[in-house]
Amino acid sequence: MVTEPGRDAIHAHAAGRAPVVVLDSLSKRFGAVQAVSEASFDILAGEVFGILGPNGSGKTTTIRMLCGLLLPTAGRATVAGHDVAAEPDKVKASIGYMSQAFGLYRDLTVAENLRFYGGLYGLEGELAGRIDWAMERMLLGEIRDRFAGKLSGGQKQRLALACALLHRPRVLFLDEPTAGVDPGARRLFWKIIRSLAAEGTTIIVTTHYMDEAEQFDRVAFMFRGRLIALGTPTEVRASFGAGLTLEDIFVDLQEQEQGQEQGT
Ligand code: ADP
Ligand code: MG
Repeated sequence: MVTEPGRDAIHAHAAGRAPVVVLDSLSKRFGAVQAVSEASFDILAGEVFGILGPNGSGKTTTIRMLCGLLLPTAGRATVAGHDVAAEPDKVKASIGYMSQAFGLYRDLTVAENLRFYGGLYGLEGELAGRIDWAMERMLLGEIRDRFAGKLSGGQKQRLALACALLHRPRVLFLDEPTAGVDPGARRLFWKIIRSLAAEGTTIIVTTHYMDEAEQFDRVAFMFRGRLIALGTPTEVRASFGAGLTLEDIFVDLQEQEQGQEQGT
């Protein structure tokens, strides 16, 4: 049932839009573990692009290489025109990254967390305006003086998103941003993300919630480090067989993975 993505899907700039993220046989090996194997695809400006797959399939490793945090062992990638291995600092200045364990300071207020992260990015004179922007866009105004440790899951998530966006990155990476967040907060979060994409920010996101993935512009399924499907949700569903949802595909891959772990 595993299909090779077609050339058109891999090289989406054939459709005329500029690619902002380009992977060319990108690979990462940790000792004996081939975490990512020869991943090749493009992501376009303003796309909401999902990287999907069971635990251990290589999603986080791919994102960490694209963020300039981890060196590829083979292949290459560029983000906003910068090579991730040769120019990691320029890559980092062009991206926002909300990791699986994003670091908010529990003993600082919402406003203090924003000021702290703005300082890290060296925003200085621009900082006050960017904090006002974040308060408004991420709906943080009413909780600006609350300690981060006292926020709800959805509020923490919106504050982390605000911190990742203070320096106006062109590309935003979100690694399981909605894990453990309630459905109302998830809906609000995606509304904000959609509006950012409409303004031209490129969004690359991993999620285990396939109802969210059905709304993405395009998705890539990874399995055991390899890219096994790529396209719009409709194209990817069709490539696995008639009548399947993304959730059916995800669960099937997850069961194959667990079956191997249990030696069955
Ligand atoms: P996902 O995010 O899809 O769950 P990861 O990218 O975290 O997957 O992991 C892919 C594979 O690489 C897994 O087998 C994982 O155990 C391994 N891996 C990830 N990071 C490291 C590391 N720093 N050292 C060794 N192995 C790692
Ligand atoms: Mg992960």
